[in-house]
Amino acid sequence: DEGWATTRFVVLGFGTAGYACADSLLQAGAEHLVVLDDRDTEALREKAQILETLGATITLGPGSTQELPKDVDVVVTSPGVPPHAPLLAQAAERDVPIWSEIELAWRLRDPANAAPWLCITGTNGKTTTVQMLTAMLQAAGHRAVAAGNVGLPLLEAVMDPEPYDVIAVELSSYQLHFTHSMSAHSAAVLNIAPDHVDWHGSLEAYAADKGRIFENCQVACVYNVADPATEHLVEEADVIEGCRAIGFTLGTPGLSMLGIVDDLLVDRAFIEQRSTSALELATINDVNPPAPHNVANALAAAALARSFGVPATAVRDALRGFHPDKHRIAHVADVAGVNYVDDSKATNPHAAQASLLAYEHVVWIAGGQAKGATFDDLVIAARERLRAVVLLGQDKAVIAEALERHAPDVPRIVVESTDTGAMEIVVGEAAKLAQVGDTVLLAPGCASWDMFANYGARGDAFAEAVRRLG
Ligand code: ADP
Repeated sequence: DEGWATTRFVVLGFGTAGYACADSLLQAGAEHLVVLDDRDTEALREKAQILETLGATITLGPGSTQELPKDVDVVVTSPGVPPHAPLLAQAAERDVPIWSEIELAWRLRDPANAAPWLCITGTNGKTTTVQMLTAMLQAAGHRAVAAGNVGLPLLEAVMDPEPYDVIAVELSSYQLHFTHSMSAHSAAVLNIAPDHVDWHGSLEAYAADKGRIFENCQVACVYNVADPATEHLVEEADVIEGCRAIGFTLGTPGLSMLGIVDDLLVDRAFIEQRSTSALELATINDVNPPAPHNVANALAAAALARSFGVPATAVRDALRGFHPDKHRIAHVADVAGVNYVDDSKATNPHAAQASLLAYEHVVWIAGGQAKGATFDDLVIAARERLRAVVLLGQDKAVIAEALERHAPDVPRIVVESTDTGAMEIVVGEAAKLAQVGDTVLLAPGCASWDMFANYGARGDAFAEAVRRLG
């Protein structure tokens, strides 16, 4: 295609995403490609060499991303780079289009042979829902894959020489910010709660970026009935004519919704027209774990699957065989009649609140890097369930203050240690506070980087400490 050969591209960032973008552009025939990154490591230089032999110009090291080159038609950016970064600000000023890797993937699809995209975003539950959806599509016999922010890079899924029937795409608000021409088959926004507000500038801007997932949507825009902000995004979107708004709810569903009747997940949206009955999909106990927020994830996944024609039996079979990834409400062990659960992936208060509400009596382990979040709503929603709280990490005071304001009678222990043995102290304290039948829940509501390499390492330290208890 002549367009790719003559367009002058700058790829900003040479991480996993930047490399995939540069590589795909070269494969598409780009002849004018500059890649810029402020970092300069042995590993980056090795990758640079490969692409340089294919014709790319790569500049690494401090200062490399300060100045937008003179002759550039398109900037392709990486997820971590904020819109106010100097090079992106200069591009905006000069009216140079800025594309995310998602925008690039959309444009690189082979239109004659392109798999439809079923897209999911939201503050929490994206990965779980995308994986549930992929399982449903596969159970229906489709060649489907999870891609985007999880699983395979979307560019690889799109460029695969053996085309997929359909792609389940996880999208972050970062990626959506610079995505312009995507037209999903169907798309869902699971929920909106404060997170990453630094990057977007405000909660409104963050929500608006999530809403971009619905632009040009073809068949169904899926929203969360319990979260009016998500429905508002559907109302604001410009969609293809005939595209429907479909709600999911943990209550009784209205027309054009999926929801719960007795202990059944039912579909009242994708059924014979004018029928007032509901189609049974599965039981609540088919969902693992059957915690309310996870049943909501299952309904959202089912809505997207049904919009693609997946039969009810495939939805049910997929849910029965599905288990969430590690560190997402994972049962670790029962010790002395107490249930220990690792939800280290709960890295913001909204996520932690969802898992707290899944248990009746909880010893809650929390703390880490709060990223500017507040815990007042969470404490108010969960205080009746809290047997006790054990706090650790950099921003433990933020949580302690919210507890003092709204649940002053709940016993709390603050663990000052930040070294490798800290988690063992934390779990020891939690074990002392727990009563038979209680759940000790690691749902930190915070990022892990103050004390651990990542949320996985934090969850592993927890599980290891629990094992030593037993
Ligand atoms: P994401 O990809 O959006 O980070 P995950 O599926 O990895 O989402 O889940 C992350 C955490 O968010 C889980 O460990 C759980 O604590 C919480 N969570 C999952 N689904 C929901 C939901 N629908 N609403 C609120 N919190 C959720």
